[in-house]
Amino acid sequence: MTKKALYPGSFDPITKGHMDIIVRGIELFDRVVVGIGTNLEKKTLFSTSERMDMIRESLKHEGITRVEVKSYEGLTAKFAEQINATAILRGLRAVSDFEYEMQMALANRKLFPNAETVFLTPSLEFVYLNSRTVKIVARLGGDFSHFVPKPVIKHLAAKFSD
Ligand code: ADP
Repeated sequence: MTKKALYPGSFDPITKGHMDIIVRGIELFDRVVVGIGTNLEKKTLFSTSERMDMIRESLKHEGITRVEVKSYEGLTAKFAEQINATAILRGLRAVSDFEYEMQMALANRKLFPNAETVFLTPSLEFVYLNSRTVKIVARLGGDFSHFVPKPVIKHLAAKFSD
């Protein structure tokens, strides 16, 4: 049986921290589906299709296979069920992530007991990295190139070129 994991998130944009989790995930599962949740309440810098393109370009650039990129509306648990995922991957960075992630994991288990939430921790160098910080650095003209996969650099630069 193919073991498939869903890695859900906003990925606005994908960072080296997200890539680290994908690489660890693919070591554990046969397939990883990166799922972009299109939560209508959350305002994003990049459109869903821009975010999907950036993830696909980054995977290609790193030569990572067995990973698909999809978008979904509504509940993560429902999408996990739809795609027959047996696991939901989440990155756990600092203690600050813990409470929210625990709530989500327990809620998702109630909604779809067949998927186990699996927490993975990135390399130490990415522990403090998040998409929000990357966008702030880019907006203020700082060097954000160390934080994101190479293909993302031009997309971020284009957003803040004016
Ligand atoms: P969300 O809005 O669902 O938190 P994000 O795109 O911010 O979406 O994050 C998706 C997942 O990736 C979350 O589990 C988050 O903890 C994890 N993540 C984000 N940045 C990192 C990082 N630097 N290292 C490890 N995991 C990360």
